[in-house]
Amino acid sequence: MRVAVFSTRPYDRRFLEAANAEHGHELVFFEERLHCRTAPLAHGAEVVCAFVSDSLDAEAIDCLADEGVRLIALRASGINNVDLEAAARRGLTVARVPAYSPHAIAEHTVGLMLALERKIHRAHARVREGNFSLEGLLGRELHGRSVGIVGTGAIGRAVSRILHGFGCRLLAHDITPDAGLQALGVAYSDLPTLLERSEVVSLHCPLTPATRHLIDGAALERMRDGAMLVNTSRGGLIDTAAVVEGLKTGRVGSLGLDVYEEEESLFFADLSDQIIQDDVFSRLLTFPNVIVTGHQAFFTVEAMQQIAATTLGNISAFAAGHRSGNEVTAAD
Ligand code: NAD
Repeated sequence: MRVAVFSTRPYDRRFLEAANAEHGHELVFFEERLHCRTAPLAHGAEVVCAFVSDSLDAEAIDCLADEGVRLIALRASGINNVDLEAAARRGLTVARVPAYSPHAIAEHTVGLMLALERKIHRAHARVREGNFSLEGLLGRELHGRSVGIVGTGAIGRAVSRILHGFGCRLLAHDITPDAGLQALGVAYSDLPTLLERSEVVSLHCPLTPATRHLIDGAALERMRDGAMLVNTSRGGLIDTAAVVEGLKTGRVGSLGLDVYEEEESLFFADLSDQIIQDDVFSRLLTFPNVIVTGHQAFFTVEAMQQIAATTLGNISAFAAGHRSGNEVTAAD
């Protein structure tokens, strides 16, 4: 099948072409983000391969359907950037990569926690300047700390298991508790209780209308004074302006982000010689107790291989008229 691949970076091309060796689809690569104005690039393709930074709203989907596209093959797990009802209305199938190495995101999450607790980002900059003073680098141990995990699916479970190994006291909140974690001693509660009890809060639930701004001003009020907040899930889970206020007052003790609610206009591009226009994001970068990575938690060799293999498998199943099992609908 002819596949229009959007938001392509050289690494995407490398992993997709390697996985395509056993599928033989015609991959056409575009650097452009997919949205309503770039959708006509898919002309002649039956499949578009899209990433988290692409915007598959109703308008873009209408345009893709008019161009003859029949399958949206997401090379990601999150589906918050796709209007599934519009896709169903226009008869487009949507398939995703529901599970790929959750360890990639889990290990990055714990990396952010450790870096913030031990101020590794500051120590790194300091030592490179020949400054070996320890003043201001006093850390806290993760061992014995209470960590609240919001969303205990594949990634939340992997984070929980790593932190269990660190000797943390684990609290969790999920609409469906995980029996394996409960057996490990993880205590499930409602979200307010988790926020009140956790010294570190880590977000791993999907972004849905119900979870948008899950962490807002009111939630921050409930959190322990000086608690750490980590979000490697989706930017929209956090009201960033409220968190900036919390950082200014010290209510938020530290913040680790791999995702940001307005990341579409920033991430996955080199903007190092441009002036960033997003004042909330720029303010975040001024805090010594904030670490931001640009949506790279998934970015490991293992995960990229799995993402490419599943994406090409989804396309081949569609081409053969089979279900891959990775299709998503608005009813899911
Ligand atoms: P998953 O579907 O396995 O788990 C999600 C969990 O969240 C489920 O257990 C579900 O019951 C729970 N949940 C749903 N709504 C909830 C709510 N209102 N409150 C509490 N829990 C709720 O998904 P996953 O593979 O663990 O991925 C989690 C999220 O991580 C994805 O939705 C995606 O947004 C994000 N993600 C980020 C990256 C990255 O590179 N930063 C990579 C992959 C995934």
